[in-house]
Amino acid sequence: MKAVVYDKYAPNDDYKSILSVKDIPEPTPKPNEVVFRVRAAALNYNDIWGMRGQPVPVPLPHISGSDAAGEVVAVGADVTNFKVGDRVVSHSNMSCRVCEACTDGREYDCTKRTIWGFQTGPLWGAYSEFTHLPEVNVAKVPDSVSFDEAAAASMTLLTSWHMLVGRARIRPGQTVLIMGGGSGVGSFGIQIAKLYNCNVIATGSPDKLDKLKELGADFAVDHRKPDWSKEVRQIAKPFGGIDIAFDHIGQTHWNDQLTLLKYGGTLVTCGATTGYDAKTDLRHIFFKGTNILGSTQGTKAELEQGLYWMGKKKIKSIIDSVYSFENAAEAHTKMLTGKGLVGKILLKP
Ligand SMILES: [Zn+2]
Repeated sequence: MKAVVYDKYAPNDDYKSILSVKDIPEPTPKPNEVVFRVRAAALNYNDIWGMRGQPVPVPLPHISGSDAAGEVVAVGADVTNFKVGDRVVSHSNMSCRVCEACTDGREYDCTKRTIWGFQTGPLWGAYSEFTHLPEVNVAKVPDSVSFDEAAAASMTLLTSWHMLVGRARIRPGQTVLIMGGGSGVGSFGIQIAKLYNCNVIATGSPDKLDKLKELGADFAVDHRKPDWSKEVRQIAKPFGGIDIAFDHIGQTHWNDQLTLLKYGGTLVTCGATTGYDAKTDLRHIFFKGTNILGSTQGTKAELEQGLYWMGKKKIKSIIDSVYSFENAAEAHTKMLTGKGLVGKILLKP
């Protein structure tokens, strides 16, 4: 079968110099695994880290890819929930399932967990014609959701669902500020908040503001403007302020988000794309009883909840472009530069 393989790290992000489509043996399922034919896979930034060998070296030779969707072609002897022909999508959070965190229902807090396609291998990731996963690491895809949409959703949908539903305990009618609404997690953040009938204020760069409204945001604000937080404050005034701030930007906009929260409000964060060394005015924390919550990935049940609403057409994936395995280097360069990028980039065999 075909797979996108590299056996050394890329100097200066020159992916073309390391990526090639190779012929490797088809997988056979272990007793607890399913094998599925990959119909679509989606790029994530951890592909870049993998090819750089930074911040952690990944097993070589390596197949990247943490999001894949397709149909089951073989099941192991102990598999109980899947059969040949089922449509599935990967749940790439591979936790140990036996530690205290896992058995407490917090698989995302498992210290032994690995991200499939990033830390797994050699030769175990989404960019291959067939792949294998434990049945606990695949979810059924509703009939009304295409493989492309499912692959584009998996990891980002999970992250956004866990942030708002699992961590911030979003409630109907709240006012939610989605930072960076044009990104993968941001676009799902907007849609999940609207699913809960919240007032949604989304921020983004000027070229993406129309897109944020198309996704359902009630208001869209250019967060590159120096007085962006004043604009948000004005908008949120009739609602009494912001209940939940959804962040993955970090440093540059951190403290402004804290000032916008109402008393007892919540800031939930899953990243820091502009830097981690943020200034915090602690008065906003203690006087206002602010909750600051960290969030990474989520549970398989949360992914399934998100997929359910995709099946009901209440949430959709945004797909930027589709590349063949042969053009994987070009696809990754596009993700790295981020120029004009809206939504996920897919790779297909
Ligand atoms: Zn565990």
